[in-house]
Amino acid sequence: MQRIVVLGSLNIDLVLPVDRLPRPGETLTGGDLALFEGGKGANQACAVGRLGGTATMIGQVGADPFATRLVDALRAAGVDSSGIGASGRPTGSACISVLPDGENTIVISPGANATLSPEIALERLRAAAPYSFLLAQLETPMATVVAAFAEAKRSGATTILDPAPVQPLPADLIPNIDFITPNQSEAGALLGGAWEIRDFDVARAAADALLRAGYRGVVLKLGQLGCYVATGGSRAAVPAFEVAAVDTTAAGDTFNGAFAVSLAEGAGIEEAALFANAAAAISVTRPGAQNSVPARAEVEALLAARRKVACSR
Ligand code: ADP
Repeated sequence: MQRIVVLGSLNIDLVLPVDRLPRPGETLTGGDLALFEGGKGANQACAVGRLGGTATMIGQVGADPFATRLVDALRAAGVDSSGIGASGRPTGSACISVLPDGENTIVISPGANATLSPEIALERLRAAAPYSFLLAQLETPMATVVAAFAEAKRSGATTILDPAPVQPLPADLIPNIDFITPNQSEAGALLGGAWEIRDFDVARAAADALLRAGYRGVVLKLGQLGCYVATGGSRAAVPAFEVAAVDTTAAGDTFNGAFAVSLAEGAGIEEAALFANAAAAISVTRPGAQNSVPARAEVEALLAARRKVACSR
């Protein structure tokens, strides 16, 4: 099995239902607090493990009960946690207030995630060798992502960057990215213009613009539309699976983990994108982050159902 290394954040999501947001100085009573294992890095590693890939997670946690909970959850998903270290800062968290209409406000506390230095990451990346894929996002320091992607390319691995939360990317990072996987708003931000990517025609134009900007492979995540993939030699619009969405948290992370697993198994880009659409579609039918990531058999069943419909037409 080809090893997939995921470098990134581990966060506990603290989700609190509220009727409205408190005013400065005000105390409000909310609903029951729910804790979920999250963090974009850990979510992607969880997706790789649960979907049958061989995953190693590289990240930093604190010395607190949240850390144990996050590491145990990844191990239960089959992820090798040997690249997760302890720092003197608290485990990362996200405090999420959810209003009755589903709208939310989020305060992220990076904590230990901010201590993932280039030195630590490179040492753990070398310890994880041989590996074929490196996945990262932007909830850990940019300098670390830059160093890790350079090292991964030197060792011949395929690199996949989820540019979330979106921020300007250093010029020396871009040539080391094999696939960049922005969602609609992140793609617009990377292009620095007023892009409204609401259909596949605009997606194609945005993907072309990203290729022209120096990205070698582009996977645009388009919510309920599905995704659009483009490389120098290929273009494909890959439609979504129709589902009743209840919570899109971790949909993009599930997508990235699934995309890497499928590529690692030898699938082409379009086939991997379809597999990723299927996995992410199931994740949006469930609340929470890592707990919404489906098992392999569920994704296979959804893909088989679509093939059956296609055959009977
Ligand atoms: P992010 O979660 O990063 O913002 P998206 O919202 O584009 O990214 O979702 C990631 C992927 O999840 C999409 O490319 C698609 O495959 C799937 N997805 C998201 N929303 C839906 C939906 N309502 N129905 C079906 N699939 C969805």
